[in-house]
Amino acid sequence: MRDLGHEQVVFCNDAPTGLKAIIAIHNTVLGPGMGGTRFWNYATDEDAITDVLRLSRGMTYKNAIAGLNAGGGKAVIIGSPNIKSEALLRRFGRFIDSLAGRYVTAEDVGMCAHDMEYIGMETSFVTGLPEVRGGGGDPSPVTAYGVYMGIKAAAKKTYGSDDLSGKIIFVQGVGHVGGQLVKLLVKENTKVLISDINEERVLKVAKTYDTEVVDPLNRLDFEMDIYAPCGLGATLNSESIPGLRCQIIAGGANNQLEDEELHAHMLQARGIVYAPDFLINSGGITNVYMEYKGNYNRELAYQKTEDIYQTCLDLITRAEIEGVTTHQAALQMAKDRITAMEKVKLSFKVH
Ligand code: NAD
Repeated sequence: MRDLGHEQVVFCNDAPTGLKAIIAIHNTVLGPGMGGTRFWNYATDEDAITDVLRLSRGMTYKNAIAGLNAGGGKAVIIGSPNIKSEALLRRFGRFIDSLAGRYVTAEDVGMCAHDMEYIGMETSFVTGLPEVRGGGGDPSPVTAYGVYMGIKAAAKKTYGSDDLSGKIIFVQGVGHVGGQLVKLLVKENTKVLISDINEERVLKVAKTYDTEVVDPLNRLDFEMDIYAPCGLGATLNSESIPGLRCQIIAGGANNQLEDEELHAHMLQARGIVYAPDFLINSGGITNVYMEYKGNYNRELAYQKTEDIYQTCLDLITRAEIEGVTTHQAALQMAKDRITAMEKVKLSFKVH
């Protein structure tokens, strides 16, 4: 906690329901720690602790750079998905409630909007509810829209225009986010290459949109202009980067750089423009944040997500001027906002 700067970490245990969970609150300067709950069968408790600490820290910077008044938080529930039950989720909801609003949850890997309904029966500190319950529903289309904005901003910096027609764009992973991204890209007369380790998924997308399927086990060293990782993280590493033949990397996956420092520098040295993942995939958190604030309006969520275009342009320029990587520039931009808002909060406010 000291090393990564966490404020609070809570361990939750409930034998009758089998609940074992950890809630990590990294930083609440901007607002309540906000971030999803991951349901995952971790090999060890140590792995779960490491994951929740890293993920909650990541949320601090994602929420800050997205301009949200939310801090960083995240939770993990440890166990195989077959232990998931109404009772377990509601018990977890009570633990969240005991934090009195310092942490607000939403869905992440292994959780869905329906699970948020159960949590919501025990606490109001939950968002990402189904549309039929007055929530914002699946946030992935908004995430994909933000990624699309990031791609366009990176193209503007690289090619002098954000017109993507004729560009070869590789979308790796066509799940919730990747599938929606393909839908946006094909409208611009781009040549879209797709891959997915789930054959059924890739065939479905290939049938719906004019795309070309690439073997998911291929390396990344084939010809493309833009690489959009939308599967799992860490695809940018010491093995893949030397072979890349693209000019831009901009995708929705979290934690694309295996080593944030080393691999951002390797991309910079190769002259490849990297649009930081935690900025351009922030549309989803913006969507659930706006739901949490009340009077949810999907159009407004899209409007706010559109800001990613300008922020991305600004940070690529800042990185050039300061001679740092785009990842460093994005982190600094997020930290600057937190520092500035810390000062705002120093003055007395009558509630
Ligand atoms: P998803 O599970 O719906 O889709 C991911 C897809 O990637 C799956 O179809 C999977 O088979 C495929 N995949 C995994 N590894 C692959 C590989 N090596 N090659 C090709 N395909 C591969 O998940 P999602 O909701 O679309 O999220 C995708 C990524 O975006 C994740 O990293 C997630 O953390 C991140 N993200 C998602 C959201 C959101 O709103 N859903 C928001 C922010 C970040």
